[in-house]
Amino acid sequence: MNTKNVYYPLAGMNYVIDDLAQIIENKMDGKDEIHLWLSAQVNCYPHIGTMTNFISAFALAKHLKDYYKKPVKIIVELLESVTGEEVEIDGHKYYKNLDSVKTDDGISIKEKYLPYFEDILERLKKKDNIEYEILFFYEYQKNPLVKKSLIKVINNYDLLKYTLDPKNGEIRLRFPCPNCGLTEKHIINTKIIKNTSEELIVESKCPKHGTYLSKISDISIDKFDMNVPLRYLVKILYLMSTDKVNNTLSVIVDGGDWSGMWPLRVYMEPLLKMNISTVPSIIYTPTILDWSGSKLSKRMYVGNSAYREYLKEGLINYSEFYNQYGEIGFERLYNEINQWVLSPKKFIRDYTIEYIDAVLNDEKINFI
Ligand SMILES: [Zn+2]
Repeated sequence: MNTKNVYYPLAGMNYVIDDLAQIIENKMDGKDEIHLWLSAQVNCYPHIGTMTNFISAFALAKHLKDYYKKPVKIIVELLESVTGEEVEIDGHKYYKNLDSVKTDDGISIKEKYLPYFEDILERLKKKDNIEYEILFFYEYQKNPLVKKSLIKVINNYDLLKYTLDPKNGEIRLRFPCPNCGLTEKHIINTKIIKNTSEELIVESKCPKHGTYLSKISDISIDKFDMNVPLRYLVKILYLMSTDKVNNTLSVIVDGGDWSGMWPLRVYMEPLLKMNISTVPSIIYTPTILDWSGSKLSKRMYVGNSAYREYLKEGLINYSEFYNQYGEIGFERLYNEINQWVLSPKKFIRDYTIEYIDAVLNDEKINFI
């Protein structure tokens, strides 16, 4: 009576491929190396969704290496520039990033959570014999091609503002105060003073330290942050330009919750508007859903009491994973996801937290 049946109705890309490697086949001509790009914010314990995304990327790397006989490397973009703490001063919202906010242990938020991400990556590197490289956002943004891509977007500010931000028409490029790190959430007191194809000069205002100027150019060193749509658009422009220079194919490996309307709006519409005819390569990994069909989220977004009712803390918090499911749990999840990657109908779909729990406990599942 309690049999769990699993069905695989065909959906989307499943109609046109029978191997996941075929998704990038039309872009592989003349390419010497494949780079798979993962990204994560280091603001929380990784959860089962993060693990699924990371294990998928390593399994894909192995598979693409076999299929194309080309080197494959994973680049993990870790974001320390994002909100660590939000404050409101005189009715304006400001934030400090994960580097500047300390936890109760006296270390920064980034320092607290980074070891858990590294632990997953090191395990996978050893198992899969695939190299990875961590790239922090503040390192990544020093690259002149990244800054060039950002300048290109800002040069087209009026053309793109309502595409990227239908609500307010803001393209949120922000600069932390050089004295205290406070950064404006909305860009009410941030003004672009100079906007040429070579450089940007922006004036921002800290509620404590007054106005300050920041610069973006080939050689600039001022730190900046971008909101999510801007960060994504700049990233694909950067990947497309670095691929041209290096004969690589960069593929973003993102969670499935970023698929659908998002890439149409944030990548394709802006590219068309800017008369660019190359397109980014992206492979979306299965999203892990809660019982109601919503993406399993970080507690910082849905509240600290969220998901406690499952009594499956290991799914939400990687630091509890081995206490709950043991090393064998990791093996089971790893084997499961490695099977998905070899079968598009298993990969191009989502899974619930109940399904994952059944896999982790080695329950009997009937695959139809
Ligand atoms: Zn300040």
